[in-house]
Amino acid sequence: MKDRADSSRQLPGPPEERRIQLSHGSGGGMSHALISELILPAFDNPELRRLADAACLNLGDTRLAFTTDAYVVDPLFFPGGDIGTLAVNGTINDLAVSGATPLWLSASLIIEEGLPFSILSAVLASMQKAAQYAGVQIVAGDTKVVPRGKADKVFVITSGIGRIERSIQLGPERMTVGDKIIVSGTVGDHGIAVLVAREAFSLSGAVESDTAPLHELAAGILRDGGTGIRIMRDPTRGGLASTLNEFALSAHKGIRIEETAVPVRPAVRAACDLLGFDPLNVANEGKLVVVVAPEAVESILDGMRRHPLGAEAAIIGEVTPDRPGTVTARTALGAWRLVDLPMGELLPRIC
Ligand code: MG
Repeated sequence: MKDRADSSRQLPGPPEERRIQLSHGSGGGMSHALISELILPAFDNPELRRLADAACLNLGDTRLAFTTDAYVVDPLFFPGGDIGTLAVNGTINDLAVSGATPLWLSASLIIEEGLPFSILSAVLASMQKAAQYAGVQIVAGDTKVVPRGKADKVFVITSGIGRIERSIQLGPERMTVGDKIIVSGTVGDHGIAVLVAREAFSLSGAVESDTAPLHELAAGILRDGGTGIRIMRDPTRGGLASTLNEFALSAHKGIRIEETAVPVRPAVRAACDLLGFDPLNVANEGKLVVVVAPEAVESILDGMRRHPLGAEAAIIGEVTPDRPGTVTARTALGAWRLVDLPMGELLPRIC
């Protein structure tokens, strides 16, 4: 495995000699190492320690979800979306999978000197279109301009606030042996679409980014599943493999999946085979993974499949008592393999 071969990079040199590598931004093992070694100790508090998609905060009788994300995708425009749609949908999705109704967003822009107005206004139009579609407003923002060459065209940072109903309780501690794992659709579409657009190579069969707001799908899951919903997450950077490893590690449970049950578009599979990627490691921007109690599976799957963003929802595995903290997959050939946190940097600047 290409990304496992890089695990030696984790070995720390003297702290004063260590530098940030691209793989620290991968969403995989190196990102986790950076967060646990440098970022968490700097700000340590119980809410941050949950390392969830959004912080869940109590304000009087109201529960709020609060999240932030930076977008540096290259190229800015790709099949299925652009940095603007990504920046709005991504933050909406972190709120949605936390069980929140997204309400307000902020947007900060870091702009490179010389960027044509036409490009910036196209990005802003995409942001507004995505916000209106999801029923949220962008109510605060900031703009900074840096000299030519000191940033690449434009970077976008969005933060978001949503409200969580009191009855909603989600978290890895709720995961129970026998729970089923459902993914809402095909994996790897976003990462491959951006890579194809960046490298300008052609594939047999077009691949579009799956960027989409998941708030309706998530709300439907919560409505149909009630207390049978354990945890949800959007498997973005680091892909499904990272999300499942995060679940297994924080729940101290094993996760077992059937590789053939994971939906993958043929064109994405072909691109992954060609490039030596594992589709489980490739980013998604409009998919969610949900862990559910067995008795809730049928009603949740029915509801998901009635929504366009969940039409291809599938049960891909379950929570097991053995091998706590690890994810294993049964391959198409019937062998078992360990699904690691991706360790290298497969695809920099994917979102
Ligand atoms: Mg997320």
